[in-house]
Amino acid sequence: MNQKYLLRCPSCGMYIPDRYTNTCPAGCPGLIRAEYAARCITPHLFPGIFRYADWLPVVGTLPTHAGPLTYRSEGLAREAGLANLWICFNGYWPEKRALIRTCSFKELEAWPTMLRLQEKGAGIMQVSSAGNTGRAFAEVSAQCSYPLVLSVPVRGLDRIWTTRPAEQVFLVAVEGDYTDAITFGNALCTLPGLVPEGGAKNPARRDGMGTVLLDGTLTCGRLPDWYVQAVGSGTGGIAAWEMAERLRGDGRWGERLPRLLLSQNIPFTPMADAWRDGRRDLTPADFEDAKLRIAEVWADVLTNRKPPYGIPGGLREALLATNGVMDAVTNAEAHAAARLFEEAEGCDLDPAAAVATASLLRSAEEGIIGPDETVLLNITGGGYQRVKEDYTLRRVRPACTVAAGAGAASVEEQMVEWVKDHA
Ligand SMILES: *Cc1c(COP(=O)(O)O)cnc(C)c1O
Ligand SMILES: [Zn+2]
Repeated sequence: MNQKYLLRCPSCGMYIPDRYTNTCPAGCPGLIRAEYAARCITPHLFPGIFRYADWLPVVGTLPTHAGPLTYRSEGLAREAGLANLWICFNGYWPEKRALIRTCSFKELEAWPTMLRLQEKGAGIMQVSSAGNTGRAFAEVSAQCSYPLVLSVPVRGLDRIWTTRPAEQVFLVAVEGDYTDAITFGNALCTLPGLVPEGGAKNPARRDGMGTVLLDGTLTCGRLPDWYVQAVGSGTGGIAAWEMAERLRGDGRWGERLPRLLLSQNIPFTPMADAWRDGRRDLTPADFEDAKLRIAEVWADVLTNRKPPYGIPGGLREALLATNGVMDAVTNAEAHAAARLFEEAEGCDLDPAAAVATASLLRSAEEGIIGPDETVLLNITGGGYQRVKEDYTLRRVRPACTVAAGAGAASVEEQMVEWVKDHA
């Protein structure tokens, strides 16, 4: 390979040069992956995620301190009775040198995804989000002056803030829920110049998230026995599996893939239910009364309605390949875990990270995780209290508001003008 990376379809095996390609040109249904010329990982001296640029599907780098930060736990490890617990903290905690200002691991996805689009000159990024993803992309846009179109449900607007003025963000508020915002976002992408972010299909997104396992493995010196994360789409779990395969190929970090321990929040647990029942895919029954159940979940970033579970290279395959486990915890268990983490480690958590912590504690107590096994806990978000001490958080203001079910025509004129100014 004389290029840094090529894309490859795991179904038909075709090598695909990257033109911001997120699906196999032959029409295969699975997730295409990046294959890198570097078989062994060599960390660079950059401070943030681009430390791992050799295994990100981009050519250059961006100047950022945001990246995964792994340290050995003492407090939580004692509470859990685990001798080898490592925490990858993805949020804002400068005392530990964790510097993700928007406080979630969605920034690990946003940095390489925005850079990849910029390098390929494919157009302007469009992202639909109810919270963490939109904030992460808005922050990258604000720091790099890359244009961005965001589609956000009205109720999610107060979660879209940045630490610098977001002058290149065109934010559309959608009167409706997350699904309505996605529908409108897809309609927007029929306008010329706008490119959808691509979700789990985007290899830059997955390899960005995969840097959690990469940082964890390089910090503890080996592939861990367990990788623990709360999931909504499952993309982080798929990413960890793919990165584990790469690290096994590197040859210096061990032969055995970490077992995935993935967690969802009761009462909305479609993937945990399908895995428990041994089903090949999700069914409409998994989404019965979804609206009501989603309304009861504390960690609402985990309530994805279209997770890539049964597709080739999807979450089910990741669980099968790693002898994985799925768990589900209640709001009360997650709240208790959040309090315990704050006391034992000293930082506030995103509710989703509290769900993962609750599953870790239970699995250790029940002996599913052995006391001497090496465990990597992905704290997917935290530090919302701490970041306010260092930065003024600026709400991004909507450029316009549309009704649920509106078509792109409702904003077309305004959008075409804006695209002309920013392309
Ligand atoms: C998106 C998100 C998750 C779930 O991640 P997936 O791997 O996409 O399922 C977990 N925690 C936080 C804080 C998130 O923002
Ligand atoms: Zn193919």
